[in-house]
Amino acid sequence: MIDYGIEIWGDDDFIVKEGLVCINAKTQPSLLEITQEVRNSGLRGPIILRFPHLINKQIENLYNNFTRAIDENGYRGSFNAVFPLKVNQYPQAVNTIIQYGAPYNYGLEAGSKAELILAMAQTPIGAPITVNGFKDTEMTTLCFMAAHMGHNITVTLEGIGELESIIEVANSSNLTVPHIGIRIRLHSTGSGAWAKSGGMDAKFGLTATELIAAMHLLKEHQLIQNFSMIHFHIGSQMEDIAPLKKALREAGNIYAELKHMGADGLKAINIGGGLAVEYAQNKQQSLKNYSLAEFTNDVIYVLREIMNAKGVDHPNIFTESGRFIVASHAVLITPVLELFSQDHQEKSLNFSQHNPPLIEELRELNTLLNRDNCIEYMHDALDHLESLFTLFDLGYVTLQDRSNAEILVHQIIKKSLHIMRGSPTMELTRLQERLQERYLINSSIFQSMPDYWGLQQHFPVMPLNKLNEPAIRAASLWDITCDSDGEIKFNPNAPLYLHDVDLDEEEYFLAFFNIGAYQETLGMNHNLFTHPNECSIELTKDGFVLRDIIESQNILDILDDIGYDKRQILIQLKNNLASSLFSTEEEKSDTLQKLELYLYQNGYLRTTN
Ligand SMILES: *Cc1c(COP(=O)(O)O)cnc(C)c1O
Repeated sequence: MIDYGIEIWGDDDFIVKEGLVCINAKTQPSLLEITQEVRNSGLRGPIILRFPHLINKQIENLYNNFTRAIDENGYRGSFNAVFPLKVNQYPQAVNTIIQYGAPYNYGLEAGSKAELILAMAQTPIGAPITVNGFKDTEMTTLCFMAAHMGHNITVTLEGIGELESIIEVANSSNLTVPHIGIRIRLHSTGSGAWAKSGGMDAKFGLTATELIAAMHLLKEHQLIQNFSMIHFHIGSQMEDIAPLKKALREAGNIYAELKHMGADGLKAINIGGGLAVEYAQNKQQSLKNYSLAEFTNDVIYVLREIMNAKGVDHPNIFTESGRFIVASHAVLITPVLELFSQDHQEKSLNFSQHNPPLIEELRELNTLLNRDNCIEYMHDALDHLESLFTLFDLGYVTLQDRSNAEILVHQIIKKSLHIMRGSPTMELTRLQERLQERYLINSSIFQSMPDYWGLQQHFPVMPLNKLNEPAIRAASLWDITCDSDGEIKFNPNAPLYLHDVDLDEEEYFLAFFNIGAYQETLGMNHNLFTHPNECSIELTKDGFVLRDIIESQNILDILDDIGYDKRQILIQLKNNLASSLFSTEEEKSDTLQKLELYLYQNGYLRTTN
C-alpha cells in the first residue's frame, strides 16, 4: 500500500481504506465517491471539497488545549480567539467558522475595510473583533461605528500616527470609543518564510520609545482606559517554537512595564497567529518541531512566570491563528486529462511480418523478463535501443520500427521497476526519474495553489484510488494554463510517483490537501481561469450530503468582471455569425445555440474530463 505520507500531514483526518483515500469520520466515505457524486450534478473541472467538520475539529482543539493548559497551570486570565479573515474570506468557510465558533465566543480579525465590513456583519454581538493593518480616518470611524453598534471591537495601532486619527474621531463624533490595542515591535524575530512579520525591521508595530509616547497621548486625551491590549505576530507557519518563547518573554515584560506605568485598562496580550500546518509528505521534509499542547503550555507558563515575578495580574490571552484553523478543511480535486507519454502504451505497438532482428530480440526480452534476469535484460534493451537509433539515422529502419523499439524499451523498464519496486537499484531509480510522466491536470496552479508558484510551498498530493496498486511513474504535474510556470516538477528529494493509467479506460483524479488557508483569495485569474467549483460535504450517520454546490464562474461573467460589457460581446459574436459562411438559417441558429451554451459554462476543460 502507498499512503503518500498521509500519517505525516493527514492529522488523522484522512485514511486509506481498500485502495481509496477516505474521510476518517462517521461512515468514512471515500473522496472518490464524493467526487463522483458532485460530478453527477454536471460539474466538470476542478472542485474544492470543503469539510466543515474539520474546521470544527480545529476550533475545538485550539480552545480545549488552552483551557487545559490554563487549568493545569492555575492561570488566572481567560483565553479568547479570533479568526483572521485574510486567511479565507469565502462565505462557506466563514459561515462554518461562525457556526462552530459560537459556543466559544470565537470572533473575527479584519485587516482591511472590506474585511472589517464583513466582520461587522458576521460576528455575533459580544464576540471579539480585532482590527489590524494600516487604517485611515474612515476605517477608524468604521471601528467606532462597530463599537456603537455594540460590538466588542479592538482597534490595533500599527503605528503611532493611527493614534492621532483615533483621538480625532473620538473628539469629533459622539460614537462609542472602541478598545484600543497596540502592536509592539519586538527585537526577537520569528522563523520560517514569513519571519519578517516580527523583528526590529518589521513592517508593523511601535518601538519602546513610541510606546512611551503613546502612553502619554492616551493619558492626555483620557483614552487610557480604552487601551486594553498589546499585540504581536511573529509570522505565519512558525516551524520552530524557540522564537515564540523569546517573543512571549519580551511581550510579557512590555505588558508588565505598561501596567506599572499606569495602563489601567490593559487586560490582554494578543499573541497573533503562526501555528504551523504540516505540508510535508515525507519525514525528511517535515520541519515543524512542536505540538499544539507544547505551544499552549509555553504560552501559559511563560506569561504566568513573568506576571508573578513582576506582581501583575495574569493577562487574558488572545490568538489569531488562521492557517491552523482552515488549512485542512479544503481539498482540491483535479481530474487528470492526459498522460503525455501515453504513446508508450503496449497497445500502440504495431509490428510487421518481418521486423528487424533487434526488434524481435526486444520483444523476446519483454516477454521473458522476470525477477532474476530483469536488470540484465534491461541493460540489453537499452543497448539495443541505442543501436536502433543508429540504424534509424543511417536509414536502415523505419519510423514504425523506431516507435516499436521505444515502446518496448519503456515497457521493459516499467516492468523492471514494477518487479523491483521493493528494492530498486540506484540505476533503476535514475531511469525512473528520466522516464518521468507528465500528468496534465484540469486546473490552474496560479488560481488554486498560488503559494506553490510564489513560495514553492508544497501541498500534499495523492490519487483518490488505486492505493493498493504500485505507482511507479515519476510524475510531474502540468496545469492547463499556457504558462511554463504552471508546473509542479518532479522533485527527487520529495518524489511523487503516480499510476500508469489509460484514461480512455478509466478516470484518474488527484487530490491536493491543506489548501484551505490563503490560497483561495490569493489565487489569480491568470489565463482567465477563475475560482474552481466548490461544494461542502456534511457527514451524516448514513454517509454524506452535498451542500452549497457552486459552479465556477461562467465565461461571460469572467469577461464582465475585468471590464468588458457582456451584452456587447454577445452582440459582436451574433453579428459575426450573421455574416459568416453558414448557408442556412438553421445552421446559424444551431451554432448560436451552441455558442451560447459554451459562454454560460465555466472556463475549465469539460469534454475530456
Ligand atoms: C496573517 C495574520 C495572522 C494569521 O496568521 P496564521 O499564520 O495564518 O495563523 C494573524 N494575525 C495577524 C496580525 C496576521 O497578519
